[in-house]
Order: sequence, then C-alpha cells, then structure tokens
Amino acid sequence: MLDVTKIRADFPILDREVNGKPLVYLDNAATSQTPKHVIDVIVDYYQRLNANIHRGVHTLSQEATDAYEQARLKVQKHFNIAKAHEVILTSGTTHSINLVANGFSSLLGKGDELLVSAMEHHSNIVPWQMLCERTGAILKVIPMNIDGELVMEAFDQLLSERTKLVFCNHVSNALGTINPIKEIIAKAHEVGAAVLVDGAQAAPHIQADLQALDVDFYTISAHKVCGPTGVGMLYGKEAWLKKLPPYQGGGEMIAEVTFDKATYAELPHKFEAGTPNICGGIAFGAALDYMNQIGFDAIATYEHGLLEYATQELLKIGGLKIYGTAVEKTAVISFNIEGIHPYDIGTILDKLGIAVRTGHHCAQPIMDFYQIPGTVRASFSFYNTKEEVDVLVAGVARAKNMLL
Ligand SMILES: *Cc1c(COP(=O)(O)O)cnc(C)c1O
Repeated sequence: MLDVTKIRADFPILDREVNGKPLVYLDNAATSQTPKHVIDVIVDYYQRLNANIHRGVHTLSQEATDAYEQARLKVQKHFNIAKAHEVILTSGTTHSINLVANGFSSLLGKGDELLVSAMEHHSNIVPWQMLCERTGAILKVIPMNIDGELVMEAFDQLLSERTKLVFCNHVSNALGTINPIKEIIAKAHEVGAAVLVDGAQAAPHIQADLQALDVDFYTISAHKVCGPTGVGMLYGKEAWLKKLPPYQGGGEMIAEVTFDKATYAELPHKFEAGTPNICGGIAFGAALDYMNQIGFDAIATYEHGLLEYATQELLKIGGLKIYGTAVEKTAVISFNIEGIHPYDIGTILDKLGIAVRTGHHCAQPIMDFYQIPGTVRASFSFYNTKEEVDVLVAGVARAKNMLL
C-alpha cells in the first residue's frame, strides 16, 4: 500500500496554491510533477558535476560521463533491455519516433504498407505521413470501437506481406486505453513487419518488459515519469539500430571525419549527435529510481482505485459522458457535459485550483471519431488522492451549474 501523505511531501509543487486554492494537479498525462529527489539531482549536477561528456580526460568530464552512462544502465534495467547500447537517449518520444521514421526512408518503397492505430498521439502519426510522402508507402489505419478499443479483427485483415511497419501506443493519452501490444507485436512479426510502440503514456503506470514483449522499438519521455522535460528514450533492437542510418550528423556520432567522408560511431553514439541533455539524462535515471522505490505494482493498484472512484462519482453528474471505456485502462478520464464546451469547464476548474487538460490532447482523429471538438481530461498519478477526486467532482458540478 502507498503512503500517499509521505509521497506528497516529496513533491514541493503540490503545496502551492492556484487562484487562492490548494493546487489539485490532474494533468499528469501531459506531464508529471517532479519529486525533491530528482530536483536535488539536477541542482547537484550544476553545482558539482557540470562538464561535457565523452570528450575530456579531466575529472569533471569523466564523472559526468560516468553519471550519464549510469543513467543509461538504469533505463536498460528498468525496461529489461538486453544491451545498454540498445538504449538511445533522445529529447523525448517525439524525437525518438522521428529518428526511426527518418531511418526507414531508405528501407521503404512504393506499395509498402504501414499500419497506424486509430488512437495515436500526433507524434506517432505525422512523422509516418512524412515518411510516406518521401517513399510512396501507404499509411492504413487500424480502427477503434466506441469504447476506445482497437478492432483486432480489422487489424488481422489489414496485415499482409506488404505490411512493413506497425505503430501503436501502449496506452492512449486521450482515452487511457491499454492496448494489447503483445498480441499486436506477435501478429505483425508473423508477416515480417516491425513494430514501434509509443510507451510515453504507459511508462508512468506500467513497467514494460521489452524483451518479453519482443518489441522492435519502444519510446518514452522522462517528463511523464517524474523526470525533466527534453529527455527520453528510444529502445531499438540492435539489428534494427545497425540497419538504420544516422538521423542527425555532428559531433559525438562519428568515428572519423575527413572532407571526403565520415564514418559513424558505434551504437548508441551513432544516434546521439551533439551534446545531449546531460543533466536531464542523469535526472531521468534518478526519476526511474524514485518510481521503482515506490513500486509499479503498488502504483497500478492505487491508481486503479482512484480511477474507479472518480468514474463512479463523475457519472453521478447528469449529462456527463466519459469517452474511453475500455476494459483495460489507466487512470485517465476524458469527458464532456452535454451542451458545454470543454474549454469553459477547464477555465472554471482552473479558478478553483484544479488543473485539467482541455482540447484534442494531440489526438485529433479520436475527437473526429466521436464527432466532438475535444474533451476535458483528468489524468491521475500515484500522488493524487480521493479527496482531490472529490474536489474535482464538486468543481465539475459547480461548472455545470454556472454554464447551463
Ligand atoms: C506525451 C506523449 C507523446 C509526446 O511526448 P513528447 O514528450 O511531447 O515528445 C507521444 N505519445 C503519447 C502517447 C504521449 O502521451
């Protein structure tokens, strides 16, 4: 069981007030808050360790390099990745997906097919559309049903020997749906297609075992797992990472450079051009440490309790409709109240100190599917409480009374 009072004391920001009210932070699907443990690591880096990595013989550079490579090992261990050099440290999920999409430019041609799930974040749609424009490959959509679950029979029918790549999020940021990625990966492999799973929204709730999943690529952003913005992971199977060309050229990613030619560095450096977010990478490792010390089983159980309670209480409000009612879902509730624009609810909630997201949540195709402009999204973390759910529900009821 989680000691939430003790956990909340780790997050300085949870003490602040917004518009004269205690902050109720329910926008965790957009970004998580940062515990003191991680803030301390960031401060310590700049006070004691700051140097460029992988270059200098001097002590600071060596210590910074060690700390950065330690972080890579923490990421490797957390996701049960076979080899440390299969962990590419990037600026986040968006960067990771673009890196892979760019790499496939030279591996695809006319008539090749890519399958994308109907519930992707724009960052797992647009890079592939750009890839299709460059290569003549065709993007096809795995449809979803009204509950926000993928239609697996349709997926089976879309798969063929023309399918080269399949991409899907592990958890939908807009609906909370947990997708059956193990099944998707196994079926895609049967036709010889590679699979990229966008794990950005799963990572705060589920500890994925990437070897057991046998996934080809998996991406996450540190800022959704209590780490800083601007850093994240691309996992790729070694064979794929060797096959893909570098994404960016520059320092750190080369073996040798003359004006005739450059040869590329070994993995992971081949994909890590330029000075990385060194402090961010180290803090990313510290954030995973923090979450592991709480424990993902305990987090999942606790958050599921919050989800059930919040769902039950919100549905008591007349006219409130929840989008995303998958059997398997994380603690995300996307909703609207009939006759009210989501933005107006969000604005009133903010006046009450409650932070929710309103809009399309970077997943416009989902909103088109439901024929709505957007939703109000409350997304919960292990540091949220039942009392905060009560504040949300009272706030939504009040907003409804004011607006209708
Ligand atoms: C947050 C998120 C992204 C984008 O992550 P960035 O950190 O902005 O690159 C992509 N996909 C999903 C499912 C997300 O939740």
